[in-house]
Amino acid sequence: MICNNLSINEKGHLVFAGMDTMELAQKYGTPLYLLDEAKIREKCRIYKRAMAREFGASALPLYAGKALCIKDIYRIMREEEMGIDVVSSGEVFTAHAAGFPMGNAYFHGNNKTDRDVAYAMECGVGYFVCDNEEELFAIEREANARGITQKILLRLTPGIDPHTHKAISTGRVDSKFGAAIETGQAMALTRVALSQAHIDLRGFHCHIGSQIFETEPFTDAADIMLRFVASAKAELGYTARELNLGGGMGVRYLEEHPTIDYAENIAIIAQKMREACASLGIDMPAIRMEPGRSIVADAGLTLYTVGTLKTIPGFRHYVSIDGGMPDNPRYALYQSPYSVVAASRMNDKRDTVCTVAGRCCESGDLIQEGVPLPKPCRGDILAVLTTGAYNYAMASNYNRLPRPAMLMLADGRERLILRRETFEDLIRNEL
Ligand SMILES: *Cc1c(COP(=O)(O)O)cnc(C)c1O
Repeated sequence: MICNNLSINEKGHLVFAGMDTMELAQKYGTPLYLLDEAKIREKCRIYKRAMAREFGASALPLYAGKALCIKDIYRIMREEEMGIDVVSSGEVFTAHAAGFPMGNAYFHGNNKTDRDVAYAMECGVGYFVCDNEEELFAIEREANARGITQKILLRLTPGIDPHTHKAISTGRVDSKFGAAIETGQAMALTRVALSQAHIDLRGFHCHIGSQIFETEPFTDAADIMLRFVASAKAELGYTARELNLGGGMGVRYLEEHPTIDYAENIAIIAQKMREACASLGIDMPAIRMEPGRSIVADAGLTLYTVGTLKTIPGFRHYVSIDGGMPDNPRYALYQSPYSVVAASRMNDKRDTVCTVAGRCCESGDLIQEGVPLPKPCRGDILAVLTTGAYNYAMASNYNRLPRPAMLMLADGRERLILRRETFEDLIRNEL
């Protein structure tokens, strides 16, 4: 199967993180998100060890909380001594509420409001990843008012198209994020940042996109960023102490996707960077990376119950489940691939090619097309694999569907970390 935390037991049930998914579906109902704590920790350690080995003790991976932002995740990140990347005051609040040490938080976003800036400083966020000049001035004003010096990185766009889906590629010059190196705006922003009295410019950041399988886009981006570091030194006499390479390493969603060796990728990137530093005559800055998807994606799966099977002769088989785009909008948004299996009938022959449809009043509410399954029956449990990232994080109440519950599985036991929403929750804010 696509990840080593999946197996099949003697009843023909799907086992995830050592637990029978059928038993969990019966006990907690569906739709149901499951998380594998050991897998999350394993991924953190892969990044931490590989980065320490390749870049030295000053390196730190930051978990990008937008992939899955929930208090229990920040407990794990604190215990694993990861840094974090936060993108809104809501994420700052969640991490802070979970007791995460906010000095190791990096605050992103292309439009931080004055209130976001003030709130993040109030919570002691260590770094702002500053996107533009307006934000730079907002940070300066707030830091001045508080009598503090705020550490920042500048977000730059290196001009890389990582050949991934347009909606999730962010490193090109024409991007809403950051200041472009190519147009001279990055250097101009650096100059302004250095002239602010209450800002400590620590270095630079880039993030080129998501779900990238190759190492070339990362080594290319790192090379462009290191050249920029060298230019800033030559032109402004400024030495960047930190370089943040963003997130984006891919995840295996389908059997045909490659298995990614994250440690090996980091070693390749580091080797190229050491060569670039030597030829540019600069020291290697302290390195940050911001994995989101690759930390949590295959640590998650979602269970659903089959309602109906509709066969349209000459067209297709629609199998409808008790969730859909409100708990996983990613196929509807950008045709994201997912593996779907019949968790209750893992040993049955997969003889029916199905379109897995959600229950919303929306034709585009599909979870996946072209899925081979044993001919589905009402009551079967389907598992959509690799849903740990960008599923609950993107969930909505569309069609007034209450959001699912989430269980954390560890050491053969489950812990409810998110209760299922009730109908009362749906009207909670209505006056
Ligand atoms: C989305 C994002 C990440 C995480 O990307 P993944 O593809 O989930 O690893 C990291 N940094 C920034 C700035 C992002 O926007």
